[in-house]
Amino acid sequence: MNIPKCKCDENRSLNDGFCCTCPTTSHEMGSDDFQVPAIPLDRPQCSSQSNVKEAQKPELMNDDKKKEWLPSDFEIGKPLGKGKFGNVYLAREKESHYVVALKVLFKSQIHDSGIEHQVRREAEIQCRLRHPNILRMYGYFHDEKRIYFILEYAKHGALYTLLKQHKRFDEKTAAICVRDLTKALIYCHSKKVIHRDIKPENLLIGDNYELKMADFGWSVHSPSSRRMTLCGTLDYLSPEMIEGKPHNYAVDIWSLGVLCYELLVGLPPFDAKGHYQTLRKITCVIIKYPDFLSEEAKDLIGKLLVINPEQRLPLTQVLQHPWILENAPEGTRPQFCTIEQK
Ligand code: AMP
Repeated sequence: MNIPKCKCDENRSLNDGFCCTCPTTSHEMGSDDFQVPAIPLDRPQCSSQSNVKEAQKPELMNDDKKKEWLPSDFEIGKPLGKGKFGNVYLAREKESHYVVALKVLFKSQIHDSGIEHQVRREAEIQCRLRHPNILRMYGYFHDEKRIYFILEYAKHGALYTLLKQHKRFDEKTAAICVRDLTKALIYCHSKKVIHRDIKPENLLIGDNYELKMADFGWSVHSPSSRRMTLCGTLDYLSPEMIEGKPHNYAVDIWSLGVLCYELLVGLPPFDAKGHYQTLRKITCVIIKYPDFLSEEAKDLIGKLLVINPEQRLPLTQVLQHPWILENAPEGTRPQFCTIEQK
């Protein structure tokens, strides 16, 4: 039998599409080892507007058909991206041909970083959430070396990549993203889940350009008075988190304000040369608005980026804010078109 080989130095046999030694995407299977169509013919076009019923989906992803998954249940396609602890691949379930994104995490790296608890929580929380603006996690499984998350495939990738390509978005596009994220957060908070890591890197874009909140690695079931280890980007942290105070749902409202600014301006509001300056700008709420921002956009951002968590604009009122009503009427989708930079 002709067993495919990995393109890494060791030229190892590929076990179910994965090399048994190398953790990086760079020298795994070439994308031409096999082709997975972006959307298989039998996949329903899911979107926030669609009325596709759960029952029309391939059986494997229905809640009452839970099964024990194995890596060999999936054909592995091209790498979609690389995270800190593993890689994400386009994949297809062999029986139904349902296309998914398979996130593969290495147990050794998770163990070395002491984040087993965080990974377990991410899976448990995300699996239970059902909302058009939240990336579905259909299930998870593990083998000796790896943990696998079976995720909804977001065809247009990370919002972060689109933002870097466009530098900044026009007000309509930004408002539609803010509207969709607000809806996802209202749902999460109603399920007593605080995301705690809202940023463009953790927002994906689906088939019809609908926003999908992902990456629940830092999420918690509230109420929470946990201290959070500061890691990654500081730009989205709320003043109460920086000061190690107890925090609640309002940390996500703060991050929504930071995101709104970054989508419109291309840089987060508290961007500075060093960590210390960023922290100082956040705790003193020092924000500079460029001239091209509309008064309504500034008004919304100002009502979200408020030091006192109790005084931040409630999410239901974000949806009623004049800037959202004017720029993001129900049913509109982001265009992600290039705007002239001033
Ligand atoms: P992560 O490890 O979750 O940070 O993912 C790393 C990168 O993989 C992201 O920045 C995306 O570009 C890509 N990615 C992750 N999940 C998906 C998905 N469900 N659909 C499409 N691309 C994804």
